[in-house]
Amino acid sequence: MHFRLTVLLGLYALAIASPLLFAWHYFGNPRDILQELGTILGMLAFAMILSEFALSGRMKSFSERVGMDATMRFHRIIGWLALSAALLHPFFYESTPSGGLFPWDSSREFSVTSEFAAIATGVVALVLLPALIVLAVWRSALDYRYEVWRRLHGILAAAIALLLLHHTLEAGRYAMHKNVALLWQVLTVLALLSLVYRYLLVPLRQRSKPWKVSRLERLTDKQWQLCLQPAGHDGLFYKAGQFAWIKVGRSALSIAENPFSIASAPASGSELSFVIKELGDFTSTLSEIEVGTTTYVDGAYGSLTVDGRGEPGVVLIAGGVGIAPMLGILRQMQQTKDARKLKVIYGNREESQIVCADELSCVDTTFVVQEPEAGFEGTVGIVDAKMLDGCLNSEQLASWLFVLCGPAPMMEAVETYLKVRGVSDDRLLCERFNYD
Ligand SMILES: Cc1cc2nc3c(=O)[nH]c(=O)nc-3n(C[C@H](O)[C@H](O)[C@H](O)COP(=O)(O)OP(=O)(O)OC[C@H]3O[C@@H](n4cnc5c(N)ncnc54)[C@H](O)[C@@H]3O)c2cc1C
Repeated sequence: MHFRLTVLLGLYALAIASPLLFAWHYFGNPRDILQELGTILGMLAFAMILSEFALSGRMKSFSERVGMDATMRFHRIIGWLALSAALLHPFFYESTPSGGLFPWDSSREFSVTSEFAAIATGVVALVLLPALIVLAVWRSALDYRYEVWRRLHGILAAAIALLLLHHTLEAGRYAMHKNVALLWQVLTVLALLSLVYRYLLVPLRQRSKPWKVSRLERLTDKQWQLCLQPAGHDGLFYKAGQFAWIKVGRSALSIAENPFSIASAPASGSELSFVIKELGDFTSTLSEIEVGTTTYVDGAYGSLTVDGRGEPGVVLIAGGVGIAPMLGILRQMQQTKDARKLKVIYGNREESQIVCADELSCVDTTFVVQEPEAGFEGTVGIVDAKMLDGCLNSEQLASWLFVLCGPAPMMEAVETYLKVRGVSDDRLLCERFNYD
């Protein structure tokens, strides 16, 4: 795991540094160290911003290998790093002569431009970039609709990329070489094309593979089971535990889509089932969905899957609706008569929130409830270190695979506990239900 992570980070660092290395190849004679540092920071910031288009969690192969959680965390870290580098880079040019192109400096080696348009696009990008990050980080606190945020995030990101391209081509020293300029143009076009692919080409492809709502069932007060049947095609190729983005009753081209873990098993046929909790705009209208409603599915994504793992057993730990991907894994293991041992730990605040209790009772499941009714036979409390200590044995801790999905505080407590008990990162698969 550490080796794979190191290799991935190394490859990423190389990709980010490649425009700079490419530029150095054409300009062998670096400038004064401070000016050069300014340029390095500016170029790295631009490369990181362009890479964010690929790190949006919507590249299937990436999300399957690296995982949605890790991808989104990385996306956020890179956002902050790019912002810091972009904000810092102008300060390094403070003592550099500025003005138009000096006759003694035709390759802008010792001077910087003061041309209004070249500077202005950089300044506007520098204002928009923190705005984009603030809107993303404090989205919940600012309390505006998720779809509005997604649209705004995409539009602002595209605008920043274009502004930075102009700034780089007009103000950058290295971009004065036509090959370096071409590289930046190609990279920017690729980044923008990723949006066209995601929001136009993928939806157009989805149009030829519609789904129909086949069943809708209330499981608990606020949780529903939604089932989809492929309409005139073979369905979706997925692994148990993965998730898909769905658009129920909307146009394939609509930007409004929601990610849900697939709770069905690939081995049980082409019908997909989801366990969905009422939360906001879309999920609180679930009761109004009619059987037969056309739906579009984009998937499968995510790395929360036990396929191909060699551990002798699997522990599934879920909190609330985090049980959805676990049901997929559990069902697949049962359908395929998987020889691995299985243990489920399923936490809820109230007993009435437990879904699929009969099915889960057929395997080794510990139900954990915080506020039980009289007569509850499971474990009272929350899924924390103390509870896990009484529930997991040394063999499980030493060699089994742990799969986690649930609310953030539970995930943090469980992850910390497992690490303290010696469970290595490569025996820990996690998914958080947020995509911000
Ligand atoms: C990988 C993944 C798997 C998930 N699996 C499940 C599942 O199996 N069952 C389940 O009940 N929930 C699941 N969720 C959460 C689910 O996507 C959100 O609860 C749902 O999209 C809320 O939509 P809404 O319109 O009702 O809420 P809104 O009122 O629009 O938003 C409430 C909150 O839900 C989140 N959210 C809203 N829309 C989206 C969106 N399009 N994409 C991502 N997050 C969004 C945001 O954090 C938002 O603040 C999963 C989320 C992710 C990222």
